Amino acid sequence: MRFEISKVLDAIEGRVCTDPSLARAVLDLAEVIRYQDIDGGRPASLLRLGMVIDALSRELEEDSVQVYAVVHRALLSDADLTSNERMVVRRWADDGLVEVLDNPGDRMLEVADLLGLPVLSRVRFDGLRGRFPWLVEQPGRVLAPVPGAGGPAFIAHVGGGHAPVTGKRSPTGAKLLARQWRCPESGCALFGSGGGGGAFADLAGGADRSPAAQPPPALRNGVPTCPRHGARLGDGGPRPRTEVLAVRVGGLVRRRFVLSEEQPVVAGRAPEQDGGIMLGQWLNDEARRWISRGHVRFELRVGEVIVTDVSTNGSGIRPAGSMAESERIPLAPQQSRVLGENDMVELYPGVQIGRAEELPAGAPFTPTSVMAEAPTMAMRLPRP
Ligand SMILES: [Zn+2]
Repeated sequence: MRFEISKVLDAIEGRVCTDPSLARAVLDLAEVIRYQDIDGGRPASLLRLGMVIDALSRELEEDSVQVYAVVHRALLSDADLTSNERMVVRRWADDGLVEVLDNPGDRMLEVADLLGLPVLSRVRFDGLRGRFPWLVEQPGRVLAPVPGAGGPAFIAHVGGGHAPVTGKRSPTGAKLLARQWRCPESGCALFGSGGGGGAFADLAGGADRSPAAQPPPALRNGVPTCPRHGARLGDGGPRPRTEVLAVRVGGLVRRRFVLSEEQPVVAGRAPEQDGGIMLGQWLNDEARRWISRGHVRFELRVGEVIVTDVSTNGSGIRPAGSMAESERIPLAPQQSRVLGENDMVELYPGVQIGRAEELPAGAPFTPTSVMAEAPTMAMRLPRP
């Protein structure tokens, strides 16, 4: 059973990030793990994070959605968690997958404000409505995870709806995210060396994160600050440009990934390249036979997405997402093309990649649960 739990926690690990391009909602981990009424289990359980992520996935009708978790440092030694759970959270902290803070304060709302993300929380933020007007002006920006049939459901604090609403990055957020930042603290997991080189390139420890994936700095009296260390951040120059692409298989968005100017990304059945996007797990036998291990390569150059077929069998482009066979443009092996705003590259019928914003799910949605491996003993969900 311990082994099974570890597998679930590993699966959940893939769903926490501090990447501004991939996070879809912000939450406070210390709060979520104590939603005891959701399953009637232990006072604190990390599995509840998985349940809330599943609920978000259902609402967004998309697989592999990721959340931005703010974590009170006390959680790393919280006796209500198992030693295994504490170890896992520490690992997430060390890898910069979550943001660990001595005093989270209103950081959760600050992140939501800078990134335009919805907040998953039962807390009423009455005193902060002046500073963050969207708390009232945009129903669906704050949703309370509550017990529901077969897992948590959401209720908006304002208006009572259940669909998460994503806003826009605030002007300050857009400004902060146009630069890359350096924390003077050695081995900072959030604003450490990354691949950017320069004075901090040799810092020991910390995650080897791309500057394009850095979280939004905290603002203290208008000064960009490391939320973890409270230190003033140095400006490391312009942040590499990025584009968020999404993989759609059988009409369902299965995952998103970030393409940055720093390096190309190869997608295919099982790419060998670093950072490759593996599609094999979503493919049927025919698609698996057709699609090469590395099938298409994406590059971001001067704001344009260039797609190159690197496969044996070739691909196609669906201009403006058109599903008409007559409009499909063949992309022969080794051929390149600029991916238009609404274009999708089709590796095989029904297996498409395009800009995330332009690629809505087109089929009735049954998300894959991050909890799929969870043993029933640990999950006493209310009966539907
Ligand atoms: Zn730091």
